[in-house]
Amino acid sequence: MSNNNIISLFETILDKSSILKGEDLKSRFYHIWKTDIPLESICLLLPKNTNQVSSILKICNNYNQEVIIHGGLTNLVGATKSSDNQVVISLEKMKNIIEIDEKGKTVTCESGVIIEDIINAVKDKDLLLPLNFGARGSAQIGGAVSTNAGGLRVFKYGMTRNLVMGLEVVLPDGTIISSLKKLMKDNSGYDLKQFFIGSEGTLGIVTKVVLRLYQHPKTRYTALAVTNDYKKVLDLLRFMEDKISKNLTAFELLWNDTYKQMISDKTIYNKYLPDNYKYYVFIEFMGGDFENDYDTFEKAIMNAVDHQLVEDAVVGKDEKEQLNIWGIREDVAVLAEEKKFDQQFDISIPVAQIGEVIDKTILELKNCQGVETIFPFGHVADGNIHFIIGKDSDNDELKSKINEIIYTNTELVQGSISAEHGIGLDKKKYLIKSRSKDEIELMKLIKKAIDPKNILNPGRVF
Ligand SMILES: Cc1cc2nc3c(=O)[nH]c(=O)nc-3n(C[C@H](O)[C@H](O)[C@H](O)COP(=O)(O)OP(=O)(O)OC[C@H]3O[C@@H](n4cnc5c(N)ncnc54)[C@H](O)[C@@H]3O)c2cc1C
Repeated sequence: MSNNNIISLFETILDKSSILKGEDLKSRFYHIWKTDIPLESICLLLPKNTNQVSSILKICNNYNQEVIIHGGLTNLVGATKSSDNQVVISLEKMKNIIEIDEKGKTVTCESGVIIEDIINAVKDKDLLLPLNFGARGSAQIGGAVSTNAGGLRVFKYGMTRNLVMGLEVVLPDGTIISSLKKLMKDNSGYDLKQFFIGSEGTLGIVTKVVLRLYQHPKTRYTALAVTNDYKKVLDLLRFMEDKISKNLTAFELLWNDTYKQMISDKTIYNKYLPDNYKYYVFIEFMGGDFENDYDTFEKAIMNAVDHQLVEDAVVGKDEKEQLNIWGIREDVAVLAEEKKFDQQFDISIPVAQIGEVIDKTILELKNCQGVETIFPFGHVADGNIHFIIGKDSDNDELKSKINEIIYTNTELVQGSISAEHGIGLDKKKYLIKSRSKDEIELMKLIKKAIDPKNILNPGRVF
């Protein structure tokens, strides 16, 4: 079918302002960091409700039309790239928060709602959505569900998967599967929602979500501690778990070069501790006792210094300091701005082996011609380390060399090539380093059963 004919079919479902084509596509893009590259697509569709999504997919399925799904466009694996023979569906107009159930501690919303908007809306009711990562101001909840996003509080609250209670999804043939239940426990047959969480839009379009919420903490404090010994990072983690257990909400790590870059004159962050240590640990405390929490946290941190678990430490005294300390860890987009060309990684490594694996990887990267900056950081308590690597060109050979170094070192310790960002287009070639052939065959079988014509996000994952 010609482009014009398929667009005329979409015109029977959507109003004109919800179908962007031709010149209109020039102001659209496939990633928030690539706003200078116009979108390639037959057209971009902006459905306003689940029935419209279903009708669009019925047409696409009938005519074997490939579809690429756009959420907040913050993924780091090339997942939202499209070509001029594909239709793009963006969920951005489906942005209603449908219900906040204060008693049951749940929120039900459409999939195009920006994560930060949900966080703010439930905070007004004294509730917490613990999803927290640097892109939360742009990423949508449908994108987070489809990528099973992680972030800075996985250690305490788990990945997005742990927060999803119910889901509404449209299958590639247009069938609407709606299970917006608010149940913690439901073993009545297969837990179908799990197919769609983390499958990167290859099995269905998420249209509505029910999320689990928590009581909003009354206090939040942050601290920074330094050491030169990775073993002490792990000792500190155990010590903090012992001293402040349920209040410990994040335990994050920056390596020396990353810390230096985050406090350089290119950022707004102050230096609280000298920049000559190997490891910088960022600790978050959240609690409910306004009177005593600060003292409890400060005492635990100072005890760690007294026990020589760390060389030095600082606790943010007021909100400005707390935000500054956390900004050094969180605002890592700064690291990607340093060089024109970069590569980003999010690997999983057994926690006890992180120190040695990252040392070896850094050494090999330093010997790789073309690599200019190496910034490791991550969610150390979850075994999830990120790398942002700046380089002198976008040359394919260099890209492959860097991938090989990182993924081979990951494979050697039975790690994963993706802890949280997913596979998208960029990591497909390396999936075999994390998953067995049989596992990948089973994934393909599931895809074939749900999307036999391979129209939805084709070519992603495998
Ligand atoms: C500065 C920065 C920091 C980040 N930090 C983290 C982090 O700490 N942890 C983490 O996990 N990720 C992180 N990310 C990656 C990214 O933010 C997450 O993967 C996020 O969940 C993507 O959501 P999105 O709405 O932007 O989705 P998009 O980028 O638009 O899409 C991601 C994938 O999901 C699909 N998709 C989107 N919406 C839907 C839908 N409604 N139904 C079906 N499929 C859909 C897309 O087709 C694509 O395959 C970070 C990104 C940036 C830029």
